[in-house]
Amino acid sequence: MIPFLDLKSINAKYRAELVDACARVIDSGWYIGGSELAQFEQAFAQYCGTKHAIGVANGLDALILVFRAWKALGKLKEGDEIIVPANTYIASILAITENRLVPVLVEPDEQTYNVSPSLIEKAITPKTRAILPVHLYGQLADMPAIMAIAKRHNLLVLEDSAQAHGASINGKKSGNWGDASGFSFYPGKNLGALGDAGAITTNDDELAKTLRALGNYGSHEKYKNLYQGVNSRLDEIQAAMLSVKLKHLDTEMAQRRTVADAYTRGINNPLIALPTQALQNSVNDTESHVWHLYVIRCEHRAELQKHMLNNGVQTLIHYPIPPHKQQAYKSLSSLALPASELMHEQVLSLPIGPTITAEQVERVIAACNSFQKC
Ligand SMILES: *Cc1c(COP(=O)(O)O)cnc(C)c1O
Repeated sequence: MIPFLDLKSINAKYRAELVDACARVIDSGWYIGGSELAQFEQAFAQYCGTKHAIGVANGLDALILVFRAWKALGKLKEGDEIIVPANTYIASILAITENRLVPVLVEPDEQTYNVSPSLIEKAITPKTRAILPVHLYGQLADMPAIMAIAKRHNLLVLEDSAQAHGASINGKKSGNWGDASGFSFYPGKNLGALGDAGAITTNDDELAKTLRALGNYGSHEKYKNLYQGVNSRLDEIQAAMLSVKLKHLDTEMAQRRTVADAYTRGINNPLIALPTQALQNSVNDTESHVWHLYVIRCEHRAELQKHMLNNGVQTLIHYPIPPHKQQAYKSLSSLALPASELMHEQVLSLPIGPTITAEQVERVIAACNSFQKC
């Protein structure tokens, strides 16, 4: 069986380095808020090209804390509207409602699966205060267009970069386009820890300072609490693991791109629609996508998934139910979002981890091409 994602083999490649880093932390006697975190934050900020990176406990917290900080700084208030793609992972929406802000769901572009700038513009009302673009499946949203809209309407932009570490347009990476960005280092993400972890990047000094306090009980200074904060910290062991993994991220990214290219060239079944990469008007077109997921579409998805399994290929669905059709969001269930709903019925993700072999890739392609309608 070709597994969807083989985390064991991915981390096995770096075993010696990871064990060394782990031993270093154990022997240091310092487990929270020490030099491993400071070093990783600096390296990750440098990687993204931002002034600050702030480690937090996970990707959801990263997004929640940015909205919370903007509320603390008087830039947002309860009831403000936040524009977000309808077909995102539910975490993006949770970060909005957790802060008692109002999600305004916008349909995706059917080619790139990413939020469509023209529909963002149509969704703006006098209550709109921010846009939360999601770089879904690893492809940067159309950030030049989105930033232009935000500027015109005086809106804040929080990028959800959980799936797009290192993706760039014209050399500018995810995490460095918006006013702030949330990253997840969940083990299965392109930059994955060996447990939960996340980070926020920003170029805004005041925001960075507020975020550091909010994630540490609302305290800038020990035993002085400016805000009713939370405990959301990236611990030393995970920071040490991430420093090891960050060094290999670009190599893994290149491996993912090679696999994506092979799928795009090799799969030619008319029943299967392939993902498209938006043309970004630059020589660096390929860099806007880091292929966290390779998502195909098929009208007969259930049969296709079964066929793949019969051919020894594990596939997954990202995602089977749109957020507005979840039990948790009954209040949104009457929204008409046909493009998003259709996508949720048709999408299927093929294996694309950095350790998949060329022979396995050929087997995935052959399995796709031998699929027929029953
Ligand atoms: C994974 C993910 C998150 C949440 O990250 P966690 O670290 O699991 O909390 C948020 N948004 C998107 C788009 C994600 O894929």
